[in-house]
Amino acid sequence: DNPLKIVLVGGGSVGKSCLATQFLQGKFIEDYDPTIVASHQKVMEIESEQIHVEIIDTAGQEEYRSARDKYIKLGEGFILVFSIIARQSFVEAQLLHESIRRANNFNKAPVITVANKMDLENERIVSKEEGEELANKYSSQYYETSAKTGKNVDLCFETITKLLKEA
Ligand code: GDP
Ligand code: MG
Repeated sequence: DNPLKIVLVGGGSVGKSCLATQFLQGKFIEDYDPTIVASHQKVMEIESEQIHVEIIDTAGQEEYRSARDKYIKLGEGFILVFSIIARQSFVEAQLLHESIRRANNFNKAPVITVANKMDLENERIVSKEEGEELANKYSSQYYETSAKTGKNVDLCFETITKLLKEA
């Protein structure tokens, strides 16, 4: 059977690749090539059912935007990431919610909103309230994560898989 496609989207440097690596390998790789789009398959066990997923890690920089739009069309579920220490990434998160909503035929695709780098609390610029408000606006669940410590990382991937399975 075809894997369910989970796409990681978000601005540059928010930690998409680190979240994927933390989830898939259980480690924090600090310097991941920002230009690489990677895809990994994994079998998840959700409520004693085996679910085959493909995790697609997109590159968020400007010059890859058309590629990113292609992945938005392809995705069945989304982990939409911003960084709590980068205001611009929060602005982009709103635009990405809009893009996903507008993408043909995928307007009901589940999306979870992830505020990453929560270990950098003393550099925080985007408040939890702002994050929650954005997520609520798009009927999306909100999580704060740290790809560095691993906090809430598995939970996010499990949650989006569950939502996809129910969809
Ligand atoms: P991407 O462009 O969204 O794929 O971002 P990366 O995963 O390549 O991460 C960008 C930078 O942020 C790298 O220097 C990472 O080491 C750092 N980073 C990613 N996630 C975290 C996190 O949760 N906490 C901290 N402190 N740094 C992080
Ligand atoms: Mg990356």
